[in-house]
Amino acid sequence: MSARVEQAPEVASLWSVRELVDLLASVWADLDEEEALAVTVARCVEILGAEVAAVVADGRVAAVAGAAAGADDGDLLAVADGRKGIVELPWAGVSQAVSVAVEDERPGRLLIVRKQPLGPQELDLLRGLARVLSISLRMHRTLAQVRAQAEENERLAERLRHRQALLERLTRIERAITHGADRQTVLDMIAQGASELVGDEAAGLGLLHPDDSERARVVAAVGIAPELLDPLLQGPAGSSLGGRAMEQGRLVAVDEDEREGAAELTEQGLRAAMAAPVHEKGRVIGSLVVATARRGRRYSEAERETLLAFAEHASLALSDARTVEDAVFRSVHDPLTELPNRLLFQDRLDHALALAERSGRPVAVLFLDLDGFKRVNDSLGHAAGDELLVAVAGRLRRSVRPADTVARLGGDEFAILIEELPPDVQAGSAAERILGELAEPFVIRSRSVVLGASVGVAVGTSRRDDLVHAADLAMYRAKEEGKGRVQVFQPEMRAAVTQRLDLEVDLRRALDHERLEVYFQPVVRIADGSIVGFEALARWCHPRRGWVSPAEFVPLAEETGLILPLGEWVLREACRFAASWPRSRPELWLSVNLSAAQLEHPDLVEMVRTTLDASALEPERLWLEITETVLMRDAEEAVAQLARLKSLGIGLSIDDFGTGHWSLRHLERLPLDGLKIAKVFVDGLLDPERDPVVVRAVLDLGASFSLQVIAEGVERLDQARRLQELGCALGQGYLFARPASGRRALALLASGS
Ligand code: C2E
Ligand code: CA
Ligand code: CA
Repeated sequence: MSARVEQAPEVASLWSVRELVDLLASVWADLDEEEALAVTVARCVEILGAEVAAVVADGRVAAVAGAAAGADDGDLLAVADGRKGIVELPWAGVSQAVSVAVEDERPGRLLIVRKQPLGPQELDLLRGLARVLSISLRMHRTLAQVRAQAEENERLAERLRHRQALLERLTRIERAITHGADRQTVLDMIAQGASELVGDEAAGLGLLHPDDSERARVVAAVGIAPELLDPLLQGPAGSSLGGRAMEQGRLVAVDEDEREGAAELTEQGLRAAMAAPVHEKGRVIGSLVVATARRGRRYSEAERETLLAFAEHASLALSDARTVEDAVFRSVHDPLTELPNRLLFQDRLDHALALAERSGRPVAVLFLDLDGFKRVNDSLGHAAGDELLVAVAGRLRRSVRPADTVARLGGDEFAILIEELPPDVQAGSAAERILGELAEPFVIRSRSVVLGASVGVAVGTSRRDDLVHAADLAMYRAKEEGKGRVQVFQPEMRAAVTQRLDLEVDLRRALDHERLEVYFQPVVRIADGSIVGFEALARWCHPRRGWVSPAEFVPLAEETGLILPLGEWVLREACRFAASWPRSRPELWLSVNLSAAQLEHPDLVEMVRTTLDASALEPERLWLEITETVLMRDAEEAVAQLARLKSLGIGLSIDDFGTGHWSLRHLERLPLDGLKIAKVFVDGLLDPERDPVVVRAVLDLGASFSLQVIAEGVERLDQARRLQELGCALGQGYLFARPASGRRALALLASGS
């Protein structure tokens, strides 16, 4: 048998370990573990001239090679376990089997089956091979790990780069939003950002129509014509890419190799595309799409994530943009009517005037104040009042050209800007037309409401023209002249108004410093001129202008609310004057004028009561004079207020009776004590040919209601005589006495004439 041993010298001597390592290294460098193991065992068969070589690990044969590849796995496992040293091979017969340990994290064994037993050197070689195998395995695993790590690192780095770019993009968009960029700019930035972030040349944003959840519209597109993008962005019902992203609420990508299934892509000459849903307030409102015509495009995980994240943030940006836009809109529009407010109106006006300076075509500003709006508001309630304002706004809007601006300046005040006034149209007639439109009744809560308006008009061609102020002044003039009319601004109105403003300031000051005075004019018995009472009349001696007529400052005080302190002061002063009357004249009475604003004031009755209490004057000696116009404003309320006043025990008379066209039928409902015949009717008595109808009627009325009647403004003796003939006992006028200071009035009283 030794001869056979000699015939077959041990092969180990032919191989150094180093050579073995080299041999296997190349194998293990390029192949994966399974393949490398297969090659390794094949080499073992070659090197050792073995029938079979195998690696067993984890209780299974991991690789096997050799002519006896058909060897029974069970035999090989038994060899690896050390249970068998001999294996019977189908054709080689009884053969020797040896196994050596392969050190690895999963311990395994390298085994050899050879007909000829292995010599000691060959066994060493086998162990060497096992060692090389275990090193190779470990190296291979480490390498694979390093490689995986490197890939992972690369992926992370890419992700980081994307995130960075994403952040930059988003900050840019957010900055644009906070700087008040309009919505379209933001939308364009989103499309642009998506294209750059993902690196595809085309991108677009599709948003659903607010009231049609089926139809998406391309609102921004870069690198591609919007209409080409349209098929990719169809709404959820469509099978388009964007439609699917919206419907499924997730990212949908079509790489180049999958594009056959996406007809909308190929038809547009595109090769790959991705779409991500865009939300607003948790609802899908559209999709963001990127697409490319480049070849070989596949979307990496990082790119997919980027688009998804960007779409998510774009949603936020969109809501922000809308919020900012809303805020901007709200800051320049009236919330009720949604018409531009004063700010926006002024802005448009400035713009229009700048254009007018170049074109020479004038610009018109109409100032419009509703007449009688307060009445509607008070009687129908504020909600109805609001509805009416909205209806007025709508009608005004429709009554002008789309290019013109209708604004609400506040309350029931509107302004209209007519740009480039057509040469054939006069601003005044345009205003008349608008007034005509407003005259048609409005139907509010199934009630028909008729409104009028006063309109002021100002026309100009230069930014130096203060058209708003001018139109405002003209509007006030229109109101003064009886409402429901159009007034075109005239330069002298400005002077009148500044004077008036000055006067208001001065009046306030005069009142504060008690620079006003109260004069008293006697009321006399016409028959003998004896004094029966006094009317208190306010006087103001202006430091520069001298005496200012009450006919001027009383209306001013009424408009500015100064009439309340003024009236109270006059009443107090008058009571003080009455306190100095001689005790021998207990029948004397005192008349004090009361204005409409005072009568409407809820504290009036209390004020009169305390003033009376503070003076020694008996209530029945005080008379208050009111004009008919007071009663016309709100008859019901006036009747109630007069009744309350009357309950103080004072007298009430109607001043300037006959001038107010006031219906006589209310007279019997009023707690009255006297009537004063207005000066105009007394003046009428100068013509002896004419029948003094009114004077006669007033006297009859006084007689039938048992009222005291006083004729005012008696200047001439013949008037006095005529009045006596007609049966008028009491008179007041320059004929008898002019109004005078308290001191002089007292002197007059003492002299008896
Ligand atoms: P009124 O109440 O009708 O006062 C009578 C006005 O006629 C007074 O004018 C008086 O000075 C004037 N007058 C009296 N006799 C004659 C005459 O023979 N000929 C002419 N031409 N005028 C005569 P006055 O003081 O200028 O007051 C004008 C109006 O101002 C008053 O008309 C009254 O409505 C209002 N007023 C005056 N003082 C007060 C006041 O203290 N409170 C209120 N609320 N109104 C006042
Ligand atoms: Ca009076
Ligand atoms: Ca009067």
